[in-house]
Amino acid sequence: MLLSKNLDFTLYKFRQLCSAMERKYNFITMDEYVTAGDKLPKHFVLMRHDIDRSPKNALEIASIEEEFGIRATYYFRVNKDTFVPEIIQDIEKMGHEIGYHYETLSKTNGDIGKAIKLFEKDLNKFKNICNIKTICMHGAVLSRYDNRDLWKYYDFRNFGLVGEAYLSAGKNLNYFTDTGRGWNSKTNLRDFIPGSNKRIIAKTTDDLIKLIQNSEITNFYISLHPERWKSNFVNWSLYWLQDFAFNSGKKVLTVVRK
Ligand SMILES: [Zn+2]
Repeated sequence: MLLSKNLDFTLYKFRQLCSAMERKYNFITMDEYVTAGDKLPKHFVLMRHDIDRSPKNALEIASIEEEFGIRATYYFRVNKDTFVPEIIQDIEKMGHEIGYHYETLSKTNGDIGKAIKLFEKDLNKFKNICNIKTICMHGAVLSRYDNRDLWKYYDFRNFGLVGEAYLSAGKNLNYFTDTGRGWNSKTNLRDFIPGSNKRIIAKTTDDLIKLIQNSEITNFYISLHPERWKSNFVNWSLYWLQDFAFNSGKKVLTVVRK
């Protein structure tokens, strides 16, 4: 069954978003953003994708972006199902940037020494198959550990890297994330730019498209998880239910952590 055009978080809606962005904005990757200095384009979109699972969805999203001439940045976790070298290389060939979606502090239960060793080992897996200049923490909401804390003890620049997707993001960026169904939903615990108190809410992707069409905002830093964007109704419904259950769980966590 095909999805109705009115549903949100579908590949149809994603195409509409791409079409709106491509008309009004330039695209830069994370590496380009971090190294641009004062040469940033006047209007730009920094499109980021965290690949938590389903690399096939990432490939699908990457191909759609390629059609629109959009270059994005893809952060892959190093898990058996997610780290698929052929897919990573295919996406890089389309002109997208590849980065490492690291979670070594939560994986090692906060052991800093073990976490940095694992980080280097995982990073080398990328270095063997593609270019890699930037990294991005995995939010790991169910863990007590914030993966970014690794950089309180070490410097990622010593690993040949130039940026971290949260720590290197300037306060001038307008951050939008699809974490928690909607753009900048209140159910997301860790997915925000530290120190930035500016949070523009777009309830639906149509709202986001309107913001883009009005071009009142000079830049968009969009974090979009390809696995959330579905092409058929069964997958869309299953994901919606799963997301609903997960967000209810997170609400409990928010209360407990306060
Ligand atoms: Zn993630």
